[in-house]
Amino acid sequence: MTDPIIGIDLGTTNSEVAIVVDGQPIVLPDESGDPILPSIVGLGEDGKLLVGKPARNQWVLAPERTIKSIKRKMGGEEKVELGDSRYSPQEISAMILRSLKERAEKHLGRAVSKAVVTVPAFFNDAQRQATREAGALAGMDVVRILNEPTAAALVYDPNQEQRERFLVYDLGGGTFDVSIVQLEAGVYEVLASHGDTRLGGDDFDELLLGRVADDFRDAFGVDLRENRVARARLLRAVEDAKKKLSDHPFARIEEEFIAEKDGVPLHLSVEIERSEFEELIGPLLNKTMECVQKALDDARLTASQIGRVVLVGGSTRTPLVGQLLEDRFGQPPHREINPDLCVALGAAVQGAILGAEKVDSVLVDITPHSLGIKTLERPVDFAYVPNEFRFAPIVERNTPLPAIRSEVFCTVADNQPRVDIEVYQGESADVRRNHRVGKFTIEGLARVPAGNQLVVELNLNLDGVLKVTAREKSTGLTKQITIENAMARFAVEERGAAKERLERLWGPSEFVPDFEPVEEVNRVFGNSPALDPGPQEGQRESVQARALLEKAERIIAKAADPDKVELERLANDVRAALADRRWGDLATATGNLSDVLFYLEDV
Ligand code: AMP
Repeated sequence: MTDPIIGIDLGTTNSEVAIVVDGQPIVLPDESGDPILPSIVGLGEDGKLLVGKPARNQWVLAPERTIKSIKRKMGGEEKVELGDSRYSPQEISAMILRSLKERAEKHLGRAVSKAVVTVPAFFNDAQRQATREAGALAGMDVVRILNEPTAAALVYDPNQEQRERFLVYDLGGGTFDVSIVQLEAGVYEVLASHGDTRLGGDDFDELLLGRVADDFRDAFGVDLRENRVARARLLRAVEDAKKKLSDHPFARIEEEFIAEKDGVPLHLSVEIERSEFEELIGPLLNKTMECVQKALDDARLTASQIGRVVLVGGSTRTPLVGQLLEDRFGQPPHREINPDLCVALGAAVQGAILGAEKVDSVLVDITPHSLGIKTLERPVDFAYVPNEFRFAPIVERNTPLPAIRSEVFCTVADNQPRVDIEVYQGESADVRRNHRVGKFTIEGLARVPAGNQLVVELNLNLDGVLKVTAREKSTGLTKQITIENAMARFAVEERGAAKERLERLWGPSEFVPDFEPVEEVNRVFGNSPALDPGPQEGQRESVQARALLEKAERIIAKAADPDKVELERLANDVRAALADRRWGDLATATGNLSDVLFYLEDV
């Protein structure tokens, strides 16, 4: 057996180690199951070396015996003090690398002597050399220094059969980098790289803290920023709220006894809306988009020449990041692979390639289609007839699982007592072209004017079980349903292959023209009378079924086995149900057929 080559992401704040096992790159966790090793080194009270979590735990109490962010000093002459001794940055980094090496040895049950280590694209020769030396000091031969964005791209395309250009957008806690990487049959090139070493999620926290502290000062005349403990508590609370806002439309911050005025304790209780947070961070994200443009200009490329946009770094979980990139590139960015672990996984992929090992596409559990609900869309100015078939996605496709997401919607009528929740999967803005996976009604809503807020939460677990909850925000009235089998397990590359298969099959012709996206709208619910089954529904379903059959027939004519046989079978089920006017069976049969067509169409 050849020597294993491990992959290491040696980060400023955190580091990880990964390896390819049976063709799959995996990140190796510590004994508690945590894949992340804080890049912190310290000396305990007894002089014992501490690396990772124990070092981080003593940072507040003993900063003089603890070293953070050594990566920022790599390649320089400056030494750091730890206890009675002075160490070069290479030596401190070596302690982190050795800890990761030992973790890998424990997992593999054998010695490890080779590694691929990643560095930022902008690292100069001295910084790269220092990283190599750190590896040697840790007892490893660094067989390749790999650029971080290249590593991220490699995970998405481990076998690089064709030339592919990636834009890697990396937004962490304190730094931002954007790089354009080209992969082609083992030749990797960073075509351009830009960034800001002082921009990241920590700035978002500060902005949110500023907003909350200003409001608190206006209300109580106390500035929470002036008290160190109150400030620290608030900072932690706003970071938690920020993370919650990535998945929910609002987040509540509650901190009891956070301050005192004239001997009276003061409590903080505030709700932040995602839109408010997005307004705060908008200017910072615009700055990152300027860097994206500079990188494109430097590489002399246009947005349409980028094959895939890949997200790296914890702060890319902020939905506005994905939206801005999608608006710019006309394609949703790839977020299937955990943005904290992507670089280490890519380093492992490179290690396996160097060791002539086979590497498969990474298997990830994701939602292959978006999941959301049917809403009535009312134009802001009431200038035209409302669209009652508007699809409002809640969990976007390619979201890693498990996923819990919620969005807020409003009633349209005064004193509206009930709302029908219809859950769909698909990518069309019109639910009639998506696949309905379930429905239910929430009744007994408060008698209030239109605009009553309902929070709809989708909770999708790894087994594909989807729980849908609707909650009236003002009263807490809740209704929930569970839908089985709402997802599929997909290999990243399998989707690409399926897409190609479809393109070969279909050629350029389209079945139905895309619906025009509707401008500026309020998302609103209405009571949809079409929900009740009856002759009307049968009529609608039969029209849909015929349209679906037409589409299927065109595809079957061009399809090859086994797709052809399967499509024929499903189409026959639809024809039989249609002929017998069995509306219930027809719904199931069209659902099955459209699922398969959908899979072909939308992957
Ligand atoms: P990194 O440096 O890549 O580990 O990223 C850390 C940053 O990501 C910190 O600012 C975190 O607050 C931020 N972060 C982590 N999870 C989320 C999330 N779910 N939504 C928004 N930001 C997050």
